[in-house]
Amino acid sequence: MNIHEYQAKQVLKGFGAPVAEGVAVTSVDQVEAAAKSLPGPLYVVKSQIHAGGRGKGKFKELPAEAKGGVRLAFSVEEAVSHAREMLGNTLVTAQTGDAGKQVNRLYIEDGADIDRELYLSLLVDRAYGRIAFVVSTEGGMDIETVAHDTPEKIQNIVIDPNAGVTDADVAAISAAYGLTGAAAEDAKSLFPALYKAFVEKDMDMLEVNPLIVMKDGHLRVLDAKVSFDGNALFRHDDIKALRDETEEDAKEIEASKWDLAYVSLDGNIGCMVNGAGLAMATMDIIKLYGKEPANFCDVGGGAGKEKVAAAFKIITADPNVQGILVNIFGGIMKCDVIAEGVVAAVKEVGLKVPLVVRLEGTNAELGKKILNESGLAITAADDLDDAAQKIVAAVG
Ligand code: GDP
Ligand code: MG
Repeated sequence: MNIHEYQAKQVLKGFGAPVAEGVAVTSVDQVEAAAKSLPGPLYVVKSQIHAGGRGKGKFKELPAEAKGGVRLAFSVEEAVSHAREMLGNTLVTAQTGDAGKQVNRLYIEDGADIDRELYLSLLVDRAYGRIAFVVSTEGGMDIETVAHDTPEKIQNIVIDPNAGVTDADVAAISAAYGLTGAAAEDAKSLFPALYKAFVEKDMDMLEVNPLIVMKDGHLRVLDAKVSFDGNALFRHDDIKALRDETEEDAKEIEASKWDLAYVSLDGNIGCMVNGAGLAMATMDIIKLYGKEPANFCDVGGGAGKEKVAAAFKIITADPNVQGILVNIFGGIMKCDVIAEGVVAAVKEVGLKVPLVVRLEGTNAELGKKILNESGLAITAADDLDDAAQKIVAAVG
């Protein structure tokens, strides 16, 4: 689960990380009071969307030369006029895709005088099975570009979970940045605090880009992007409360209510399968025959008729879906339950696209009988190869 920058800063502040004062607003009327509550005279008006690259982003509704999604303001009036241009408009960044994201919330922040911009992130390094600090002096830039063009400018400092962040780790990170004076002092509390936040809140990723050294020599977390491990959310009610469903795919939210493993993809063949392995094999074979899957939808092992119907409705509600392939290998899952779920869903929402069904395993014959007797326009398939060819041909 992802959260907004202003929320991430609140979480990190709770662990003692230095962040600027700021106020989140959702309408232009709130901006003047928000800015006046800050020290000034420099303010930053920051779009709150779940995507990075906001500063270099462009608003769809504004001329190309207009400023991006993170803007400096040198007066309260300027902050208000930026907010008026930004709120409600669609910001397109390198991470949003062409559709962009509507900016419904701004963070009005106390501006910092920046001396240096650094890159810092924490993530689980799978090769080591440990949390690593990813450190680079090239902050404020797209880290993928740094990794591609100048990989020697990125260092990984892997933390021993038994020891936590040691003095030696702090010294190694500070040396990588070339920190001295007040910044090196700040580092001694900041890096262990970020590690503690990462572990205690079950984060997947914590990215501070940039971490800045200010003109006064101190460190500050200038940007913060955090994602949490969805499987651990049950033990963090405070984090769950930060969820902003307007930033998420509506189909994925609906699927999560039903405990369905569902991921939206870019193609146009909807897939309903059971088991992640079968889901991947199904996506592979669709691609083999020249089409792209519209989703990864795994109803799992023990789904009932209602859950199957919910999955089918989510798939058919996607306007990109031009055909559906149901590919079930009944083990624990029974094919007749799948058939009943599909029939129930189609009776409720109709069927406007071709549907190819391949059922194999437990109660396959009964499942096929239910489909045949349903009177619905369903194409039966004998095996996976046949099923993939049929749905690809039907979509055309
Ligand atoms: P991103 O573009 O989504 O990564 O948003 P950031 O929060 O990283 O802001 C983008 C850039 O805006 C930063 O790299 C800075 O150069 C600039 N910026 C953000 N906040 C401040 C600030 O308080 N003072 C100054 N001078 N620049 C800032
Ligand atoms: Mg940034």
